[in-house]
Amino acid sequence: MASIRLKNLVKKYGDGFPAVNDISIDIEDGEFIILVGPSGCGKSTLLRMIVGLEDITSGDLYINDERVNSKAPRDRNLAMVFQNYALYPHLTVYENIAFPLRLAKGKHSEEEVDRLVTGAAETLELTDHLQRKPANLSGGQRQRVAMGRAIVRQADAFLFDEPLSNLDAKLRGQMRSEISQMQRRLGTTSVYVTHDQTEAMTLGDRVAVLKKGELQQIASPRELYEQPVNLFVAGFIGSPSMNFLPATIEGGKLQTALGALDIPADRAAKAEGRKVVLVGVRPEFFEDAKLVDEAKKPHGSTFTATLTHTEWLGNEQYGYINFDPAPEVRELLNNLAREMDADELRPQVVVTLDAASRIRGGRESEIWLDTRKLHLFDAETGENLT
Ligand code: ATP
Repeated sequence: MASIRLKNLVKKYGDGFPAVNDISIDIEDGEFIILVGPSGCGKSTLLRMIVGLEDITSGDLYINDERVNSKAPRDRNLAMVFQNYALYPHLTVYENIAFPLRLAKGKHSEEEVDRLVTGAAETLELTDHLQRKPANLSGGQRQRVAMGRAIVRQADAFLFDEPLSNLDAKLRGQMRSEISQMQRRLGTTSVYVTHDQTEAMTLGDRVAVLKKGELQQIASPRELYEQPVNLFVAGFIGSPSMNFLPATIEGGKLQTALGALDIPADRAAKAEGRKVVLVGVRPEFFEDAKLVDEAKKPHGSTFTATLTHTEWLGNEQYGYINFDPAPEVRELLNNLAREMDADELRPQVVVTLDAASRIRGGRESEIWLDTRKLHLFDAETGENLT
C-alpha cells in the first residue's frame, strides 16, 4: 500500500492556461480521496499525472516518499480503473482478470495465477461468472471484472477515472456502495475522479474540490458541507444547492429580498464593514413557521413569503420562492453564476418543508429560518466570512 504526495503540481499543455495549477495534497496510506469538480477543472489530468500517463510540468510527485516524476507508469505499481472498463471482449472473465499477471511474463506460476484470480473473483462475487465473456455480463459485473484486475496486481493504490458514469442511476448507486465496501475491506489507497457530488460525498474519506485547475478545498464530506471555504464549494456541494441571497447589513440585521433577518451578533461582526454580502442558506434550514419547535424558534427569523409552488416528495416537500431582484442584485447574481460556472442563477430560493406542512403555492405563508446556520460570503471574492 502507498502514501501519495502531490507537491505544487503544475500541468501546462502548450503555453495555455494551466490545466493543473499548483496543487498540493498529501494522501495517506489507505485513504480514499475523491477529486471532484465540473468538466475541464483538471481532475482527470491530475489523476493521469499520478499514474504517469501525463508528464509533470513542475512540482513533485512522491509515492511512499520516493520521488517518481520520471518513473514509467508500469514501475509505479498503481492500478487504474477506467470508465469504459477496458475489458477484452474475446477473453473470459477469468482471463480478463488474469491478464495483468500474464503480462508480467514468467513472474507468476499457473497455481499462483489461479489462486489470485479465484481469490479476487470471490471478493467480487464473480465466481459463478468466470467462464463468461464480457458481452454476457451486466454493466455492474463488468465494472467488478475491471476492479478484479486491479486487485490481482496487488497494486499499491487504485486510481479510478469516473468508473460509474456509463451506468444507469440504480446500478450506479449499487456499485457506489460496492466500491466503498471493497475499498474499506482491502484498505487500499484510492484516488477517485468524478464530477458527481453525490459520489464524492458518499465514497471519500476526504474530497478535493477543483475549479479551473486549482484546488478550492480538501476536507471530509461533512466539513465541505458545513464549512465550505467559498461560494464555489458551497454551490457545488449539496442537492438541492445552497441558496444565495444578496444582502446588506444594517443595524445588526440582514436586509434581504425575503425581508429583514436577525442574525447572531458574532456572525454579523464577521461581515462588518462590508456593504453587500451574499447570504448562503441550505434549503433544510428553512421550516414552516407553524411547525417549528418553540424552544428552537428564538434562534431564527420568521418572514412572510408567497411560494410559487411546492413539490411533494413523500418524506418532505420542496417549496419555491421567487424574488424580484434590484438591477444591482441581478448583476451580482450574474457575476456569481460566472464564478460558479453555471448558466444563470435564478432569483429563487428553494426551501425544504416537512411532509406535514400545509403550506401551498400562491398563498402568503410564514416561513422560519434558522439563522445560526447561515453563511455570509464576500460578494466580490466569494470567500466564506463565517
Ligand atoms: P472532464 O470531466 O470533462 O473529463 P476534467 O476535469 O477531467 O474534465 P481535464 O480532462 O483534466 O478536465 O482537462 C483540464 C483542462 O486541460 C481542460 O481545459 C482541457 O481542455 C485541457 N486538456 C486536457 N487534455 C489536454 C491535451 N492533451 N491537450 C491540450 N489540452 C488538454
